[in-house]
Amino acid sequence: MAHRVRILETGEVTHNVRRFKFERPAGFKFEPGQATEVAIDRDGWREEKRPFTFTGLRDWDHLEFTIKIYSGHNGVTNQLAGLKAGDALLIDDPWGTIRYKGKGTFIAGGAGVTPFIAILRDLADRDEIAGHRLIFSNRTERDIIMRDTWERMDGLDCLFVVTDEPGSSLSGGRIDRDFLRRGVSDFGQNFYVCGPDRMVEDVNAALEELGAEPDALVFEK
Ligand SMILES: Cc1cc2nc3c(=O)[nH]c(=O)nc-3n(C[C@H](O)[C@H](O)[C@H](O)COP(=O)(O)OP(=O)(O)OC[C@H]3O[C@@H](n4cnc5c(N)ncnc54)[C@H](O)[C@@H]3O)c2cc1C
Repeated sequence: MAHRVRILETGEVTHNVRRFKFERPAGFKFEPGQATEVAIDRDGWREEKRPFTFTGLRDWDHLEFTIKIYSGHNGVTNQLAGLKAGDALLIDDPWGTIRYKGKGTFIAGGAGVTPFIAILRDLADRDEIAGHRLIFSNRTERDIIMRDTWERMDGLDCLFVVTDEPGSSLSGGRIDRDFLRRGVSDFGQNFYVCGPDRMVEDVNAALEELGAEPDALVFEK
């Protein structure tokens, strides 16, 4: 069922990622990690639905998306970048297979961190963040979404990786089998993986080769 919701506030997260806070329809519920189909309530854009993930907490009085803007072509995200408070979105009911199922390591690439924003915020809110790990890969340091938030979460073990910035003090290189073998000591834990399709396939395959159980891999199916 489509809900028409007004944007309450927009803001910058990184140079190409924006946050959208918007009205929460009465009784609207979602689980951290879930997404929905979104369209802009404007002529010519209502049929252009794209999936975005709820990044706020379940008990907030508003909803939130954190969206990477592709300004290189006139798609939905380029249009979203121009919206302001008072403009309206059409959202469907929540869906998605990324759900928290216990302690583990979160492996994200770029905007693939969005389902983990809700899950990790929820764990921090419940004082249960300790013992979790976030491995977050981006092209460069300026692409890292909400770096301060992750670094401030007491007990979250953060490892930032950049693939295209040789001068950076952060870990370089791709998250491949070698990287995981060196950087992960326990393959019996849960792994949550989200990012570009290719990255998710490669990381899941590497984790299984290294001993992770297929049932312990959580990703969008
Ligand atoms: C379950 C799920 C949840 C998601 N949640 C989020 C989220 O919370 N936040 C988020 O930022 N993203 C999220 N995404 C991804 C998001 O849906 C896409 O980034 C979005 O659909 C892009 O829409 P668009 O209309 O701007 O681009 P599209 O037109 O849909 O194009 C998408 C891709 O193609 C490329 N592309 C297409 N045409 C051109 C062109 N002419 N020139 C240059 N590049 C082009 C774009 O660079 C981009 O990589 C999610 C995806 C899924 C499947």
